Amino acid sequence: MQMKLLQDRILKDGQVKEGNILKVDSFLNHQIDIDLLGRIGEEFSRQFAGSGVNKILTIEASGIAIACATAVCFHCPILFAKKTKSLNIAGDVYTSKVESFTHKTVNDIIVSKSFLGPEDRILIIDDFLANGKAILGLSDLVRQAGATLIGAGVVIEKGFQGGGDRIRSMGIDLCSLAIVESMDPVRGIVFRKD
Ligand code: 5GP
Repeated sequence: MQMKLLQDRILKDGQVKEGNILKVDSFLNHQIDIDLLGRIGEEFSRQFAGSGVNKILTIEASGIAIACATAVCFHCPILFAKKTKSLNIAGDVYTSKVESFTHKTVNDIIVSKSFLGPEDRILIIDDFLANGKAILGLSDLVRQAGATLIGAGVVIEKGFQGGGDRIRSMGIDLCSLAIVESMDPVRGIVFRKD
């Protein structure tokens, strides 16, 4: 289920930029509206209630606040994958590669083996879903650790970029609180019908 309060806020304050970028940094990933953030965390916890989530996994930096708001509702820790360009500083870690949608560079992402293992039931959280690289990289870390992937929650899915469809077709339980069907600087933003 999409979240009407969030859709209204995107229509009011979101800005469509060149390169299929939606800017929401007045309320979500630069300055953060903490009341809205709390509602987002509650909505994810409702959608994945009863699934035994015991850890939230995200990627630095903009996923962290959203993951924290969600973890407050599950009363569980969050773990954020770090982005690094030099794996040789890393010790005992799981690693994967993620191409950045916004910067077009490839980052190694790492988490310590101490904090992810077979006993974990993981909910992946992120701010945006575009081509799906970030979520696929995070789910690869979950697989390497032998943990259980409960699902993934994203605040804004850009449905026209195909990552969400790909992730759903892999059988991952994906919950997107707003799905943008199309966007254009002049014609504006249209959401997918539920
Ligand atoms: P993906 O890996 O699914 O291609 O892209 C998702 C990642 O790229 C997210 O972690 C997010 O930080 C960034 N991203 C993708 N599209 C947008 C966008 O339209 N606006 C912003 N602010 N970030 C985006």
